[in-house]
Amino acid sequence: MDHACRVTLPGGLFVDGNVKREVWLRPLTGHLELRLAELAAAQANSPSKISALLDSAIVRDEECPEGGLASNLCVADRQYLMLTLARMLGGDHRWLTAQCERCDAPFDIEIALPALPVQLAGEGYPFATTRVRDADVVLRVPTGDDQERVANAVSEQAALQSLVESCVVRVNGSAPPPSFLESCTPRDIDEMEAALEAVAPSLGTTMSVVCPECGAEQLMGLDPYAMAGVSGEQLLGELHTLASRYHWGEEAILSLNRSRRLFYLRLIERDRGLAS
Ligand SMILES: [Zn+2]
Repeated sequence: MDHACRVTLPGGLFVDGNVKREVWLRPLTGHLELRLAELAAAQANSPSKISALLDSAIVRDEECPEGGLASNLCVADRQYLMLTLARMLGGDHRWLTAQCERCDAPFDIEIALPALPVQLAGEGYPFATTRVRDADVVLRVPTGDDQERVANAVSEQAALQSLVESCVVRVNGSAPPPSFLESCTPRDIDEMEAALEAVAPSLGTTMSVVCPECGAEQLMGLDPYAMAGVSGEQLLGELHTLASRYHWGEEAILSLNRSRRLFYLRLIERDRGLAS
């Protein structure tokens, strides 16, 4: 049946001084699946597209303000929600194809999405504190918004600078002076990254696999944003079938809950079976 899905985030949304770890995802509709299909077809992950998709999927309540919610979620929460959507759509298991680093042979690996390791947020989340060159620095764990800024940066150096500017919230109890941000050395940045890593939640998206051809053990990365595996072509085919039969408009069909849509498709299939 169609129902909203409760998700306990590994980090949580920081609202009015509190961390809200529970959110609800709406029942799946064709609209959401179409967005997932578009995302799957895109060449690169776009943080703003993922934000828009998640914003349309999360149920809003008085603690969950309208608009711009997903862009304020930390990276692991966004990945976790995308994986949850993938599980709602296609179940817990996926077959992925890898190519051996040593012998080039392609091979298939089955993964269980619920088995991916999840590291929960540490004490103090979403903030981390550290000392950099005798100054007390308070940092904030990066969010979707930060990812977007980084994605738009013109160079790696600019990206790093932008990330530091976003994530350093306090230096010695005050707003960070520009001189501090400009003078950060790579070592200072490493220091701050380590402090953030200690509190930031994370998802294990790299796993160890063994090539069945040559036995070489290797690491395989998994894209948590690409697990939904929605095919736009199939969805449009379903739309066509329903529209041809019931003469409903595209908007009406896309608004149907997924289970309802699949139910009507099964009825059509059954009628075809009876007619043949
Ligand atoms: Zn091999």
